[in-house]
Amino acid sequence: MSLPGSQGSGPESELGFERRLRRARKWKRRWTQLQLAQRICQIAPAHGGTAEQHSLKTMISKWENGMKIPSQHNRHLLAVALGVTVEDLGLAHDPDFRCACFTE
Ligand SMILES: [Zn+2]
Repeated sequence: MSLPGSQGSGPESELGFERRLRRARKWKRRWTQLQLAQRICQIAPAHGGTAEQHSLKTMISKWENGMKIPSQHNRHLLAVALGVTVEDLGLAHDPDFRCACFTE
């Protein structure tokens, strides 16, 4: 028997991505889905992309409902916006992924 609240053996052993994303957004940042979309729009240019606020908000809603899984670039943007790692969100990090914000 494990204790309530004890750590699991791996990053994906407790909560799925959609619950982790919602938790990070609501409890860590205290943002609405719209505020998260706005934040991602602000940071997107520094990561070599552009984002449109309305479509982002729709995507965030789908991610949090487990209807879609974000692309490598979008999971990177989510992690940066929320101040967490991709692994913290319960998602796999592709070691081959490259972003404009990587300096080496
Ligand atoms: Zn980046």
